[in-house]
Amino acid sequence: MAECSCFSPQLDSGDYDSRDVGETYETNGRSCEASVLTCRQCGSKWLYYRVDYWAYKHSARWYRGLIPETAEHPVVVESAVKILETSECRFEGGPHFDSTGRNGTGRIDVDL
Ligand SMILES: [Zn+2]
Repeated sequence: MAECSCFSPQLDSGDYDSRDVGETYETNGRSCEASVLTCRQCGSKWLYYRVDYWAYKHSARWYRGLIPETAEHPVVVESAVKILETSECRFEGGPHFDSTGRNGTGRIDVDL
């Protein structure tokens, strides 16, 4: 299963099914969007999380992490950071990281 292409930072949109699990808008101008991606090849479930500050072009970033089996169900946007921080395989990218996709670990900092 670890051989599947979904275990690399770049994922083709044709390789998974996506389901929105919510979005949040905060008073500091931050918006967050989460969806669960199911790989069409191996069935792995990933949490995709996008963070944007509307006033700051280069703040946008995304995270994608394998959803741990111990994660609460159903997955909701409010628990996204916790899930991503406990994920055993995580990627991150976007202008904030100046990256189109790379490996990520540890704490997630969604502040500017
Ligand atoms: Zn896969």
